[in-house]
Amino acid sequence: MFDPIRFRSAVQYEGGISRRLFLAYAGSLSSLPLLTRKASADTTPTFSSDPFTLGVASGDPDHRSVVLWTRLAPHPLQPGGGMPPSNVEVQWEVGTDEALRTVVASGKALATPQLGHSVHVEAEGLQPDRWYWYRFRAGETESPIGRTRTSPAPDVMPARLRCAVTSCQNYEQGLFTAYEQMARDDVDLVFHLGDYIYEYEAGRNGSVRTHHGPEAVTLDDYRSRLSQYRADPLLQGMHAVCPWVVTWDDHEFDNNYANDISEESGIDAVDFLVRRANAYQAYYEMMPLRRSSLPFGDQLRLYRRAPFGRLADFLVLDTRQYRTDQPNGDRRSPLNAAALHKSNSILGRRQRNWLCQKLITSDAKWNVLAQQVMMGMVQRESIDGEGNYSMDQWPGYAAERMQLMRFLAERRISNPVVLTGDIHSNWVNELRVDDRRADEPIVATEFVATSLSSGGNGPKKPTGLDAILAANPCVKFHNGERGYIRCTLTPQTWTADYMVVDDVLRPGGTTSKRAAFVVESGDPSVKLA
Ligand code: FE
Ligand code: CA
Repeated sequence: MFDPIRFRSAVQYEGGISRRLFLAYAGSLSSLPLLTRKASADTTPTFSSDPFTLGVASGDPDHRSVVLWTRLAPHPLQPGGGMPPSNVEVQWEVGTDEALRTVVASGKALATPQLGHSVHVEAEGLQPDRWYWYRFRAGETESPIGRTRTSPAPDVMPARLRCAVTSCQNYEQGLFTAYEQMARDDVDLVFHLGDYIYEYEAGRNGSVRTHHGPEAVTLDDYRSRLSQYRADPLLQGMHAVCPWVVTWDDHEFDNNYANDISEESGIDAVDFLVRRANAYQAYYEMMPLRRSSLPFGDQLRLYRRAPFGRLADFLVLDTRQYRTDQPNGDRRSPLNAAALHKSNSILGRRQRNWLCQKLITSDAKWNVLAQQVMMGMVQRESIDGEGNYSMDQWPGYAAERMQLMRFLAERRISNPVVLTGDIHSNWVNELRVDDRRADEPIVATEFVATSLSSGGNGPKKPTGLDAILAANPCVKFHNGERGYIRCTLTPQTWTADYMVVDDVLRPGGTTSKRAAFVVESGDPSVKLA
């Protein structure tokens, strides 16, 4: 299909560079195995130490199947994870009890060095709307047992869904304490909305803990960074509790990037896309993603639909890979002609068409955009009486944003809700076509999850809170603490509990509910729960 943004990118490099790009892609592609070919594998591998140091994970469930994930890595920070450069056979099994006495599905998978000895099994033939347990085996070694679940059948209206929304977990700036409480919350699903890792070099961000290695550039750099994060017992433990639906933001690759454009000037376009291919491949390897997200050179399809019966349709977006460059040099700016320009797109035409089509055909009670950057047009400091807006967030793409809001309103999309990360603070926003016009009808509700650890401990009352609330009638809540959002959806209500941690700088922090909000079906306005 024709995608104007990619087409423009390709054209942009014509005149000598496109051939280099092609060769660079060919180089990165040749590292991917041919998945359909029968490959030889070591069926009785032995390991000097436990190969399951990164635990297990599951994700992207539907009503019949779920992705089961592990990665063999006896020494996860080393290149190759401490594995020999050969294929290894891994067995998997799924059972209906936590001791796996009753196995209902099992099989073999191949862990290949080309994909970092990661294993992505799409376990099929499962029953809808039920919990399962699973485990992997390689040679004589067994993985920990993970718990996962399928979603309800498409024609069923479930009574309830509980999910957690999290983002932004800088390893150097804080501990992942909040995952302890999340594991106790008994959620059906976790949505991770990006900044799962930070790409920066050791010591750049903080001193609570230290990144391993330089700023991530090579495939081994990104693998080792993702491994360092996943080796955290609390993060790893949460992955073993329930399925996750993940999407990335910028730091999985490079701060504030826009498609193939770096925030820094003077970056070679070919080097940048080869680096992106490394980041995307390592991300695929480490996440419980389906084969439909297998990377293809510098491209990886991450936008997708995750339905939960007729209760909710989650439309998971990728607002990084296809966006046009941030206007106004990516500096906070008024909503000027550059910010409002019609050619700015944060979605890209193909993803936008997909999104609109999924929204039109949805019969779900709640239609949820699970995505990265804030959609509320929130003005921060005022200069000469004119508000300034983030150009890296939806206000930098204001025309497309207003078009989307108009679409939601005119097509009477049922209960649109936006879930957001990125900004390292909590927000609840009432979204209108133009959020500066408080007299217009509310179209959707936005719940912005704070960071899990990025930024270290933050204030309950951010500086300038009163001015922000006064200047932005769309903002119903704003808070600067660390944590996540715990959501409970029923056919009648959406309840969002804002969970915050009192201290992420030292072990032993406690997590509690700071505030709770409720939206009733048919009315996108926000009330205190
Ligand atoms: Fe972040
Ligand atoms: Ca971000």
